[in-house]
Amino acid sequence: MSQTAPLPGSRRPRTAGRASWVAKGGIESGGTTLSSQRNAPGGRHEGLIAICLLLLGLVAVAMAGVVPEGGRVPVRVGPLTDVQRPDGLPPGSIHSASVLRFELPPANPEARWVLRLEREAVDAVWLEAGDWHSPVQGFFQPGHEAGVLPGSYVFDLPASWSGPVELELHSTGDAPRALHPQVMDAGHAMHLEHYAVAASATIYASLFTIGLLSLALYSAARDRLFLALFGFTVVAMAALSAINGHLYQVPGLRLFAFWRGQGVVALVMLLCAAWLQMLLQYAGMDDQRPRWKGLVDGVSLALVGLVALCLVNVPQLARVLAQVQTVPFGLALVLGLVLLVDAARRRTLMALPLAALAVLALAGVILLELSTRGHRLDGVLVRYGYQLAIVAGVAILAVGLVGRIAEYRRQRDRELLARADTERRMQREAARSELVSELQLRLRSLSPEDIPWSAFRLLLDRLRPLLAVERLVVVAQGLHGQDVLLVDPVGDTDAVRAQIGRRQLALRRQAANGITLQQPVTEAGHPSVVAIEAVVPLPIRAPAWGAVLLQRRGADGFATEELSLAGDFARQALLHLDQAMAAVQLRRSAELDALTGSFNRRTIDHWLTRTFAEAARSGQPVSVLFIDLDHFKSINDRFGHACGDACLREVARALRAGLQEGDLFGRYGGEEFIVILPGRGGAAARAVAEHLRMEVEALRPECGGRPLRLTVSVGVATRLEHEEGPEATLGRADRALYAAKANGRNCVQVAPAVFR
Ligand code: GH3
Ligand code: MG
Ligand code: MG
Repeated sequence: MSQTAPLPGSRRPRTAGRASWVAKGGIESGGTTLSSQRNAPGGRHEGLIAICLLLLGLVAVAMAGVVPEGGRVPVRVGPLTDVQRPDGLPPGSIHSASVLRFELPPANPEARWVLRLEREAVDAVWLEAGDWHSPVQGFFQPGHEAGVLPGSYVFDLPASWSGPVELELHSTGDAPRALHPQVMDAGHAMHLEHYAVAASATIYASLFTIGLLSLALYSAARDRLFLALFGFTVVAMAALSAINGHLYQVPGLRLFAFWRGQGVVALVMLLCAAWLQMLLQYAGMDDQRPRWKGLVDGVSLALVGLVALCLVNVPQLARVLAQVQTVPFGLALVLGLVLLVDAARRRTLMALPLAALAVLALAGVILLELSTRGHRLDGVLVRYGYQLAIVAGVAILAVGLVGRIAEYRRQRDRELLARADTERRMQREAARSELVSELQLRLRSLSPEDIPWSAFRLLLDRLRPLLAVERLVVVAQGLHGQDVLLVDPVGDTDAVRAQIGRRQLALRRQAANGITLQQPVTEAGHPSVVAIEAVVPLPIRAPAWGAVLLQRRGADGFATEELSLAGDFARQALLHLDQAMAAVQLRRSAELDALTGSFNRRTIDHWLTRTFAEAARSGQPVSVLFIDLDHFKSINDRFGHACGDACLREVARALRAGLQEGDLFGRYGGEEFIVILPGRGGAAARAVAEHLRMEVEALRPECGGRPLRLTVSVGVATRLEHEEGPEATLGRADRALYAAKANGRNCVQVAPAVFR
């Protein structure tokens, strides 16, 4: 790492979410916002899916017409009058009979003819022609001949029949049913039967699979919607197999035949209620559309009420319900459709495809209703189309729910990120307040020479754990008259010093700019970037300058947040550094004499009190020296006040230099100085006084180009045992000083033990 150069085009943000390449204060609001959780990923494709589904439905209807016609014989159906009601028919049960007329081709041993009827919910259906009776078939007690998943009632016609045939068709049940009799060859009937089996098998297998899947999804995601979906598939399987007459094939469920047609109607109602409730939850109506929820809940409740009525098994009611069973079914589909359209408008996942399937199912139900009411509509799609649409709807619902899980996960990820963000912010806040309190606490007690260094050391220690950096440097020049270079790790100091020496001009310019910037660091002779260096300027008044340098290996820049953090911490360090320096200055100006820089009278008085108290406690001696310049007035008079000041400074410096550590020295006033000698008395104090006198005598300060001669008189006093405070000792020293003056000046006079 030796060369640094700004990147070309360095003012553009490098990558989204990272810091601007050249950042200036403030944190970019780059955080992700928590958008509506129902916003579908890929939601704009849903309209396309819906259109495709509708087209697929249309194609299926068109294909239904392509079902091979096969050898069919036209059948004319006429009313049968004067027919006897069969014996043992339960009261309330309806006996319908009609006469079928058709013409069979000449008898042919190869061809077998059958009469095929739609598999409507009748108790019993049979054919009669003179002495010939067909076996009785029934919806609720399907025999072995009906197959696994029967789609119709098929009666074999005697092989001997040919020419015009007249047959009586009898059925009993809750309500008259349009059975759509068809005469066709057996092969074609079997063909149609296979279609029916395939359709129902698809329906049940799909529902079964989706049911299992939703259970598995529920156990994985613990989203109750999946449980609702599972419940819905179970109800749908029961209802559709009841409608198709397959439920009674299953041992154990055969008991359900007790309710006959009403049982079917009950299951259909239950299916409608389940469908509506499912959609209600799916579309999030609970919190977003409370009024709609009320409506849907009301309708569902009414449907459940109808279920209860069906199961009470009142024949009259059953007859009415059997007539109109598709009506609530259709209504539930319409209401569901409305809910889905509303949900699609609120961008609920997969609502549009579901709405398309609801449309298809509705169309299927209408077709079926028309067929049941006698219109000549038949075919597998009429019977199973709406069921297939429901199954497809359930599948789409499952897809939508899985999509919702993905959405939940994204939301959780966002929340985790936000939490991590908060934690990081809290960590930074904590580090910041620790830094501030440490700065406040530690800098106070330091000498001015140590303050900048300590402040920046604290800064680096606090910054280090928060930033992934290889190297941290603080460089400052002329800061309170000092140059500072701090490197973390310390081992790099020499290398960094050399580097900064080379880059001093550039660094100084960058720091003076006041703009945080980052730049690549390259090896000499290698173009590839080995590290990124951020320069965070310290706000120092020119000509002084300073910056914090952050170096990170690799080509990944610093995030704006990191840079502003470093800037903020650096500002704090600098602020407290300046404050600590100012406090030191203030303290000094209060303690020191402005002219000579020695302690002033106030400070000396303070020290006198403390030193004498200490001496009184410990019994150690303490002496006081009063030092007064001789004939100083004449110096002022002859050479002026400025010269007098210079002489005072010179004398103070000489006196201070002649003292030992622990001795206290101050200006007592005017041209009079005082020395306190803790631990020394008598002869030692006199020796010090003599030494100081000689030091001053040796001085030759110049005034107006002429060397001057200065002398001092010194009065010495040592604390006597009975002297508590300094006053008495000071008085004796003062008197000794006068004695020295009287003695001819430039001499030392020691106060005797008792001096009056
Ligand atoms: P003696 O030998 O008796 O002490 O004579 P002296 O002239 O030193 O004594 P005196 O007390 O008469 O004069 C003290 C002079 O010190 C008076 C004043 O002009 C001078 N002086 C006091 N404080 C300052 C100061 O801060 N600066 C200057 N230049 N002179 C000062
Ligand atoms: Mg004097
Ligand atoms: Mg004086």
